[in-house]
Amino acid sequence: MDFELTPEQKAFFNEVKEFAAREIAPYTEEYDRRGEFYWEGWRKMAAMGLLGLPFPEEYGGSGAGALDTAIAMDAFGAGGGDAGMSLSWGAHTIIGAIPIWVMGNEEQKRKYLPPICSGEKISCFALTEPDAGSDAASIRTTAVRQGDYYILNGTKMFITNGPIADICIVLAVTDKEKGGAGISAFIVEKEFEGFEVSRELDKMGNRTSPTAELAFNDCKVPVENRLGEEGEGFYGVGKATLEWERAIMVAPAVGGMEANINRCIQYARERKQFGKPIGKFQAVAFKIAEMKCLLDAARLLVYRVAWMKDQGIPAMLEACVCKLFVTEAAFRVASEAVQIFGGYGYIREYPVERTLRDAKLGTIGAGTSEIQKLIISRILLGKL
Ligand SMILES: Cc1cc2nc3c(=O)[nH]c(=O)nc-3n(C[C@H](O)[C@H](O)[C@H](O)COP(=O)(O)OP(=O)(O)OC[C@H]3O[C@@H](n4cnc5c(N)ncnc54)[C@H](O)[C@@H]3O)c2cc1C
Repeated sequence: MDFELTPEQKAFFNEVKEFAAREIAPYTEEYDRRGEFYWEGWRKMAAMGLLGLPFPEEYGGSGAGALDTAIAMDAFGAGGGDAGMSLSWGAHTIIGAIPIWVMGNEEQKRKYLPPICSGEKISCFALTEPDAGSDAASIRTTAVRQGDYYILNGTKMFITNGPIADICIVLAVTDKEKGGAGISAFIVEKEFEGFEVSRELDKMGNRTSPTAELAFNDCKVPVENRLGEEGEGFYGVGKATLEWERAIMVAPAVGGMEANINRCIQYARERKQFGKPIGKFQAVAFKIAEMKCLLDAARLLVYRVAWMKDQGIPAMLEACVCKLFVTEAAFRVASEAVQIFGGYGYIREYPVERTLRDAKLGTIGAGTSEIQKLIISRILLGKL
């Protein structure tokens, strides 16, 4: 067992961390306030090769493994990189593109992956609906085959990148008698007739990552845009992405914890009350010690799943453990950071209040904490 990153991986971590600190972090407050996507930052992320990291070079990617992708995402957060940008990055590169890479045929991969890797086109993933969140297999959007097309009808809710996406992976019911096995996946382009961004949603956190409700009204999708076979969408996409989504995609939260702890260390050294730095009070110092424990455990859980993925070892249980622990830890760290900053922590001039708003999403999106506990306990207990 080896817990050390290679010198190349350490250099890569530092490179991405410095990039995030220089090119992204200084603009976050302004864009968060406006609730706007930071296009210039996105283009810089694309130019750095971050958007296509895991994909083979023949499709325009960098051929990085899951571990190197996790390292980049962790480093982005550690450099103070905006959580909204990393959410959009994950929705684009992970849930918005890995299904194409894993389930797509050669033609689909050649057509869609290169512009996703270069950032020329933005991708998103649409499963959730107004009445189907945790119970994702209960979606109602339908896809009815008519000759060379499928006709999609329904509404998707809370779709990250929805307002700016060119490409959307959409899950829809092709056979309602079969439950999850009757759901198929489609690659929908924003120009397709009947596709509409019906509503942009305003959020408490991750405000630089645009979110939308999407409407499909007799949306015409060519048969060649179906991913995999009919009925393979729900379980196929789940198999392709869940470990990525529940471990690699939460890596920015790990780096975010590191950034928050560093802010707290600096503040605890500088802020004086009762004639001494507040870091001298055990109540404050112990918070920082506890935050560091959460950070180290979270990082190990992310890197373990990433390593397992690179070895081809199934990691569903480990990924759910990772998602649950990392997102709850990130929220706890952000909350304690606000506490250490006291009144200033609650004021928008300081970044810690934003990290608390941002971190809350982690415990909701991609399967809530309750759903992770449900899966973990079901795997452990088996059928009772
Ligand atoms: C900002 C944002 C971005 C998102 N991005 C995307 C995206 O890009 N694509 C996409 O498809 N979806 C996306 N989602 C949707 C997200 O995955 C869902 O919000 C999430 O899965 C929860 O579903 P829900 O909101 O319908 O909550 P519900 O499922 O209605 O849950 C409500 C509450 O009930 C609890 N609950 C539900 N069922 C159970 C149970 N069986 N046992 C115990 N507790 C239970 C939940 O844990 C939660 O506390 C996004 C959501 C947000 C807020």
